Amino acid sequence: MKIRQLLIALLLLTCLPQFAGAGAEDKMPIVATTTQAADLMQVLTADVDGILLTPLMGPGVDPHLYQPTESDIVAMNQAQMVIYSGLHLEGQFDAVFKALSEQGIATYALSAPVKDAGFIIGGFDLSDALLDVDDPHFWFDPRNWQLTAQDLADRLSEFDPPNAEAYQANAAAYIEQLDLLYAWADAGMRSIEEGQRYLVTSHDAFQYFGAAFGWRMRAIQGLSTEDEAGVGDIQATVDFVIANDIPVLFVESSIPPDTVEAVMEALRAQGRSARIGLRELFGDAMGESDSFGGTYIGMLAQNALTIMQSYRCMGLEVDILEWPADLEPKPPDELWNVDCDA
Ligand SMILES: [Zn+2]
Repeated sequence: MKIRQLLIALLLLTCLPQFAGAGAEDKMPIVATTTQAADLMQVLTADVDGILLTPLMGPGVDPHLYQPTESDIVAMNQAQMVIYSGLHLEGQFDAVFKALSEQGIATYALSAPVKDAGFIIGGFDLSDALLDVDDPHFWFDPRNWQLTAQDLADRLSEFDPPNAEAYQANAAAYIEQLDLLYAWADAGMRSIEEGQRYLVTSHDAFQYFGAAFGWRMRAIQGLSTEDEAGVGDIQATVDFVIANDIPVLFVESSIPPDTVEAVMEALRAQGRSARIGLRELFGDAMGESDSFGGTYIGMLAQNALTIMQSYRCMGLEVDILEWPADLEPKPPDELWNVDCDA
């Protein structure tokens, strides 16, 4: 233990300059692991001075597999609070979170209020047998994300009472935005005939998304990308696609497309055809920080839009509602106007 502490102390000494920018010493350092966690922190701390937010994972990063780097460990050791998704989404961080708690650093799991409310769904493997695991992808139901936003605002208010009013006001405004987002996505996603509402993706990230909007999900890989897909998983997905006459399969931005391509190839070999979605879906990571998909609202809306447009391009009837006037950010034109033959 002494050697470990010495190592941490050395790390602190060697890495300190990169954190000690102008005024940084007066700021409260907070670390957010995933892109969703960092976005929610940005929303809740808008107009609040004195927070130094360090996000760890970038766009396109798979949180199941991401290994904390030395500088991540240093940032977490220096933080007053570490905000993470939880339910073992950050599969390589379990020991780190435990060590941080032991050192008295506040850790906060965004999934905690959703689990407390009983809205965490069980994990299903490809044979739909219930496994004894919680599905970590809770944020894909915007109603869950509302619970998380309020709870994190409460936690920040306790942690930093002088800014409590700002955190609460930011949370209240954001929860209203999420109401608009949910209503917009729900109307469009449910406009597709019920028997056609199947979503086939690379890994099992979308059960909550399906539960939110009345769709059934099928993934080639299980809940975590740590479990590799085998030949049996590919064939089971092919059988499912054929049995349900599913026209489109989707690739996720944080996962290599190999397994979806293997399913496509097997379908072609059996004389069947399906198309890949017009765009990749954001699974466990959001888009580039300066893009529409780099916000939670944009990420969820772009996923819904990609699914609706892809199905419409396959000749299905889909009613995509106009974007709500008060909902920000607004989707760029190139997302609305798609060329089905491109
Ligand atoms: Zn995942």
